[in-house]
Amino acid sequence: MIRADEGRRIITGSITPVAAETCVIGDCLGRVLAADIPAPRDLPPFDNSSMDGFAVRAEDITKATRESPVHLKLAGELPAGKWTAETLRPGFAMHVMTGAPIPPGADAVAEQELTESENGNVRIFSPVARGRNVRRKGESLNAGALALRKGVRLSPASVGSLAAMGIKQVSVYRRPVAALLCTGNEVVDLDRAPGPGQIWNSNAFTLRGVLQNCGIRVVDLGIVADEKEQLAARLREALTHDAVITSGGVSVGKYDLVPDVLKSLGVEIKFWKLNIKPGMPMAFGIGTPDSRPVPVFALPGNPVSTLVTFDQFVRPGLEKLSGVESPEPRLRIKAALEEPIQKKDGKRHFIRGIARNAGDGIVVTTTGTQSSGVLMSLVKANCLIILPEESGSLNKGDVVEIEML
Ligand code: AMP
Ligand code: MG
Repeated sequence: MIRADEGRRIITGSITPVAAETCVIGDCLGRVLAADIPAPRDLPPFDNSSMDGFAVRAEDITKATRESPVHLKLAGELPAGKWTAETLRPGFAMHVMTGAPIPPGADAVAEQELTESENGNVRIFSPVARGRNVRRKGESLNAGALALRKGVRLSPASVGSLAAMGIKQVSVYRRPVAALLCTGNEVVDLDRAPGPGQIWNSNAFTLRGVLQNCGIRVVDLGIVADEKEQLAARLREALTHDAVITSGGVSVGKYDLVPDVLKSLGVEIKFWKLNIKPGMPMAFGIGTPDSRPVPVFALPGNPVSTLVTFDQFVRPGLEKLSGVESPEPRLRIKAALEEPIQKKDGKRHFIRGIARNAGDGIVVTTTGTQSSGVLMSLVKANCLIILPEESGSLNKGDVVEIEML
């Protein structure tokens, strides 16, 4: 039995990214960059106004006040998208709109509110400092500077910044394909009526959901019985993909055959059993069909254990597989417990909680029964309360760490 942090270290340490491919940026949202992106040119590409107002020479209006405004002559109008090469002469102002280039000679913009204009003249009621309301060429990024780093997942803002730099396509990692396999003689497909003692396959749906949320393509290999030959055949097929996720059959029951069958297929089991609750029986290994490393995550079948182990261990592993340079654990924040929690064992607990803002802090309550079969505890939860191995029972008001889901 190993510690959770050790398990996570083993997982991220033994997985390498899939191959890269070129992709147009319109299809890159959520993909992971496979190469650094230097800015090809300055951003913004020219000095421009951040306000609607009047481009001026700041030195012309140093004496301007409400009582005795400075009068300037209008040199014309420059909306966004227009350009002028003509230098603004002393005593003149150019009417500019947000995003318009600053004409040569001008060095500040007096915002509309500080001015009044009529008949080709403008009165300025206040001085403006040089550079005021001017967005400088290159102030966001200078040409050649590192704009986006290899190994980051592309957000809408990062895809937008690629467009702003005129970059049409980039090198990203291929989207990994994971095979999903649910085991259990009692588990049946949703389109079948369960016989006595049988249950529907809910894990296929929860796992497909969290895999999709991770940007992973899923090949669902369905349900397989707790029987060695059938299990081996289906797992062999699963190993032809980039990663394998199984549910059930990983505990110490008579019909928990997954670890042994994985070994018989040459999968090197890196760990089996973690010092955690829920999810203790989880196993992780690396298969090497045709000498290609394929991570295998064998998750316990209890619906809550399946999802908690996915969140804590599979997700960072799949991040690594997807090319993310250093997968970070979820951000942890502190919250005050609204109820006591009993804890006597030395395991790390992941308790399903509901956190909310209260005053200037955050409070958290549990979702009630914490049995690993009660999927409703996760339906209600918006966070996991993390109780470390060394933690004992806690009282109402004690501060705990939570991870928002
Ligand atoms: P196992 O990990 O195979 O020992 O299963 C633990 C518990 O999870 C049992 O109560 C199973 O019936 C249940 N279970 C296993 N697989 C699934 C599944 N795919 N969907 C819902 N429950 C499952
Ligand atoms: Mg089972």
